[in-house]
Amino acid sequence: MPEVNLYAPDETAMLAVGARIAQATGGRGVIYLHGDLGAGKTTLSRGLIRGFGHEGKVKSPTFTLVEPYELGDVQVFHFDLYRLVDPEELEFLGIRDYFEGNALCLIEWPERGAGILPKADMDITIAPHEAGRTLRLSPHTARGEAWCVALTD
Ligand code: ADP
Ligand code: MG
Repeated sequence: MPEVNLYAPDETAMLAVGARIAQATGGRGVIYLHGDLGAGKTTLSRGLIRGFGHEGKVKSPTFTLVEPYELGDVQVFHFDLYRLVDPEELEFLGIRDYFEGNALCLIEWPERGAGILPKADMDITIAPHEAGRTLRLSPHTARGEAWCVALTD
């Protein structure tokens, strides 16, 4: 499956990339976000969520594990599982419901939820490069591939 590689030279560019990805997804699917602390996972998520028209704050769900957004007919669930001790905890959050609806799920630290989370349509791996960040988008489903095609048009 083809990968897409992007470069965001600064935070503003990162937010713009997020908005482009938002448009490509149409607001349905599962994206895993990879990268060290401070890589830019939450910044990219902020760009995505604002890309659907959200004008308020997008705070990091580090302590709440998940933050929901209702944006017109699009529902976004932004997860940060950094503090998750046991994937079973996710069951108590009722997360199955989140994945059954027609929502877009953005998941930081997905490896902490292994075995409980649904499969990703796409992995996005963020890494520092010079003053900015590289983003590697790896699709795993037909839906993820369609996003990549839309992003390279
Ligand atoms: P994470 O969620 O991966 O821990 P955050 O998004 O919270 O990372 O923080 C990333 C930090 O890097 C923020 O200070 C943000 O301003 C900065 N940043 C985000 N994207 C870029 C970029 N493309 N280039 C340079 N700095 C960036
Ligand atoms: Mg974060």
